Amino acid sequence: MIYIDGRIVPKEEAFVSVYDHGLLYGDGIFEGIRIYSGTVFRLKEHIDRLYEGARVVMLQIPLSPEEMEKAVLDTVAASGKENGYIRLVVTRGKGDLGISPATCPKPSVIIIVDDIQLYPKEYYEKGIRVITAAIRRNTVDSLDPRVKSLNYLNNILAKMQAQQAGCLEAVMLDRHGYVTECTGDNIFIVKQGCLITPPVTRGALDGITRRTVIELAETGGIPVREGDIALFDLYTADECFLTGTGAEMIPVTEIDGRTVGDGRPGPVTFRLREMFRKEIA
Ligand code: PMP
Repeated sequence: MIYIDGRIVPKEEAFVSVYDHGLLYGDGIFEGIRIYSGTVFRLKEHIDRLYEGARVVMLQIPLSPEEMEKAVLDTVAASGKENGYIRLVVTRGKGDLGISPATCPKPSVIIIVDDIQLYPKEYYEKGIRVITAAIRRNTVDSLDPRVKSLNYLNNILAKMQAQQAGCLEAVMLDRHGYVTECTGDNIFIVKQGCLITPPVTRGALDGITRRTVIELAETGGIPVREGDIALFDLYTADECFLTGTGAEMIPVTEIDGRTVGDGRPGPVTFRLREMFRKEIA
């Protein structure tokens, strides 16, 4: 079932206009959220992030955060799904052919409840290979990656390079060569027992799964800090893993042809993943 501008309809009946600026210009924002055992995981955090993004791009969401929360829960209830994925999208809405949002009187709200395609299961055990992308992550002074916008071409170009190299993900650097995140996941390394992830001000989404993992590390007494990660640090890391709503936590065992640690997911990754499993149970 799909929520679209106040109505919940079967997916065959959910349409947007070809004049929607979300389609024409990628003018809009979105969230990806999980449903685990009938509960929407960290819904309030997702809604807060959506409204922050809306503020940055000056998009007037036609619902209050409380109404949005209810719309999400109603759509999940209508879908009857106990486990699944929610795609919450707010577009600038219908307008003229020019880019000006002033021609779009009403943003559109779309909530899709469906299943999620995770990475193939075997990779959670053996880890994935990644490359670093040639294209750099959007800079915070152009389009800050903290805005989860409908404009994903930056990530898509990097993703295509990963696929050409036979990889599932690509690490994206900022313009100074520091690691930011991957195309659809945040990144962590472990070095001498300490968990390190780039600060979001390098140019990364403030991932909800990233926050969850940082909290779990703190609870579990695993030292954790935000810090700059250069390629040297990535190549010499003891462990590496990615986090995201879709991916959850997935180990990385090869980066640009260099084996991470001994080539198998390491103990800190393993421990955090067990804690994460309990968190979503
Ligand atoms: N970075 C990017 C570019 C993403 O699109 C996502 C979401 N798929 C993430 C990181 C992870 O964020 P979250 O944990 O909130 O899903």
